[in-house]
Amino acid sequence: MVIQRREDVVGCRRSIQMSALHLVFLGTSAAAPTAHRNVSGLFLKREGQAFLFDCGEGTQRQMIRLGTGFSLDAVFFTHFHADHYLGIIGFVRTLGMLGRTTPLLLVGPKPAATFLPTIIRLGVDEVTLPIEIVEVEPGQVVFRGAGYRIEAFPTDHRIPSVGYALVEDARPGRFDVTKAQAFGIPEGPLFGKLQHGEAIQLPDGRVVSSADVVGPNRTGRRIVISGDTRPCNGTIAAAKDADVLVHEATFGDSEQLRAFETRHSTAREAAIVARDAGAKRLVMTHLSTRYDREPETLVKQAREEVKPDTLVEVAEDGMVLEVPVHD
Ligand SMILES: [Zn+2]
Ligand SMILES: [Zn+2]
Repeated sequence: MVIQRREDVVGCRRSIQMSALHLVFLGTSAAAPTAHRNVSGLFLKREGQAFLFDCGEGTQRQMIRLGTGFSLDAVFFTHFHADHYLGIIGFVRTLGMLGRTTPLLLVGPKPAATFLPTIIRLGVDEVTLPIEIVEVEPGQVVFRGAGYRIEAFPTDHRIPSVGYALVEDARPGRFDVTKAQAFGIPEGPLFGKLQHGEAIQLPDGRVVSSADVVGPNRTGRRIVISGDTRPCNGTIAAAKDADVLVHEATFGDSEQLRAFETRHSTAREAAIVARDAGAKRLVMTHLSTRYDREPETLVKQAREEVKPDTLVEVAEDGMVLEVPVHD
């Protein structure tokens, strides 16, 4: 399927083709859209697989504008407030019209199993593609791909809610060809055995272990998406040493009480979560309309709480974030 791309979204098309794991922010406004920001939607692509995290009203149009394509494997809902799910109705309708026949997985906390079928039936006369619905409990692994998993973790909002973490398996360490040659190991299948952790025996009887020529395992990437939540231990645990923590920051310091009452977070609280987790990069999203055009206030308040080497930023609609592998 070809989706018309627009070149006026800075650098988006080029970036998407370059990275093996990237995020595209489709909607970064809390509760209601503005002229600059749509409601919640985050696209994540890892090699051949693509996912949406939340699907607020207008998400499919953002996907067209930003050239993400519609070939999704799953949509993960953090909770069922309307600014996070209304877009799924139109999206499923469009997929039906496009003739999609591969199954679409929809995942969310309670009451996903009863709620999702109801809203989809409401908006789609005849659902022509197979839809699989999974209602998750926090702590559950909800998706397994080649070399990674996506798990749900507990968050603290007004209704049942979860966040999601994409966690990659560790990769084997770097193979040191120079060392291998110094041992006199001929290039070929023996290299492969060593790379996969096996010891080998050379024709002269010497035994070379994998650790002699292969470096320590390289940790996988960890991407964490909080959804709407108060700062909580569930997110801190899930975001331990995360490459990227996408955390809601609906409010600034002046609405601290409102953040508490509505079970949202301030930018400062999001930063404290990032700091306590040791996350390398904090991306704040789900902004109250009052910060729509001046998110710098939130960045300033957040920066006061994190270590100087932590990257802190506010997401914009259309922002593409590439996450490099660990060396
Ligand atoms: Zn929300
Ligand atoms: Zn909410």
